[in-house]
Amino acid sequence: MGLLSKNLMGVKMSNWPELEKKYFMHTVERIPVTLVRGEGARVWDDNGREYLDFVAGWAVNSLGHCPPVVAEAVTEQVRTLIQVSNQFYTVPQIRVAELLVNNSCLDKVFFSNSGAEAGEGAVKLARRYGQHHLNGAYEVISALGSFHGRTLAMVAATGQAKHQKPYIPLPAGFINVEYNNIEAIKGATTEKTCAVMLEPVQGEGGVNLPDDNYLTLVREWCDEKGMLLILDEIQTGMGRLGTLFAYEQYGIEPDIMTLAKGLGSGAPIGVILAKDSAAVFVPGEHGSTFGGNPLVCAAAYATLKFIIDNDIVGNVRKVGQYLKGKLEELKPKHQFITEVRGRGLLVAIEFDSDIAASVLSACLERGLLVNRVKPNALRFMPPLIIGNAEVDEAIGILDKALSSVV
Ligand SMILES: *Cc1c(COP(=O)(O)O)cnc(C)c1O
Repeated sequence: MGLLSKNLMGVKMSNWPELEKKYFMHTVERIPVTLVRGEGARVWDDNGREYLDFVAGWAVNSLGHCPPVVAEAVTEQVRTLIQVSNQFYTVPQIRVAELLVNNSCLDKVFFSNSGAEAGEGAVKLARRYGQHHLNGAYEVISALGSFHGRTLAMVAATGQAKHQKPYIPLPAGFINVEYNNIEAIKGATTEKTCAVMLEPVQGEGGVNLPDDNYLTLVREWCDEKGMLLILDEIQTGMGRLGTLFAYEQYGIEPDIMTLAKGLGSGAPIGVILAKDSAAVFVPGEHGSTFGGNPLVCAAAYATLKFIIDNDIVGNVRKVGQYLKGKLEELKPKHQFITEVRGRGLLVAIEFDSDIAASVLSACLERGLLVNRVKPNALRFMPPLIIGNAEVDEAIGILDKALSSVV
């Protein structure tokens, strides 16, 4: 322990950005803050400055930072069993699987390490299904403005030029069509299509809500053609929209669903869930070294159990409603706000020009972390455990920040 901590402590605090610049590939324009500690809905930087966190690790910290139930479960697990090969049964993994299946419409699980990896597995599963049941159909239709992850196949599924262009040629078998337009899906469907893959609400694309009947129409179309519906609930799942899973709010059931972000409180875990009818993998067709190891599953079990036992989704509905109302109230005062949209605690405000970066900086200066989801829009995705008091505090800061930029 001595050596490492001495070296780290020996580096001057203000050098972190310099060191990052020296050692890291430049894949991200970092926000100039070095975070060192978190608790509940708050984080602290290396100068001891406190911030109210409405980013939550990109919708990951469902129960806030370092929730005691998760810290305790992980601490106990790390002293008991961290990793064994997936050829053996392990208890935390089976407990998470049971909880997920008993609380969703899906029947079977497969654990991965991330959202993108869950998406890859979901597409592999759909292709196997196509080979068994759809004459070898393999194409997946996904939506423009979507986000499914950073691996090559998920970049192909992600209907955004900025993510695709740098990596052309992309893996074949993906068609991107307009979101919230059933005719576009129908028009793109051929005998080669095995699945439609959608986020119930597009997160990274800007918090884009579908019309109320869109997902019903997609479900009906998939049923008519015998194709699978894959819902990417990596961002919308785990209570974020005010129900444990977003599909519940749209009155449909997917054949395959992916989860990640909010499931593990920051322990890297992803899941593919499938109906029995779609769970066609046989031994050897898919696998993972770390996927669902005892350590991350201890975190996921503690997180999921807490969400269920404490009606966290009820809190999300209540506080989410309050947050949206408060944001709406800012509109008359700051008339450059053109729209407030979202569900539960996944909410965005859009401006009539590209001022999101300036508003973000102005919030940061005043102690609030928010996400610039588009040049002209901010996204709010706080921990699911926040109350109205934290919303009031955030709105107070945002109000001042908005006044300062125009
Ligand atoms: C974040 C996200 C992903 C990718 O997850 P990673 O864990 O970053 O690979 C995929 N789909 C959606 C909807 C997401 O929000």
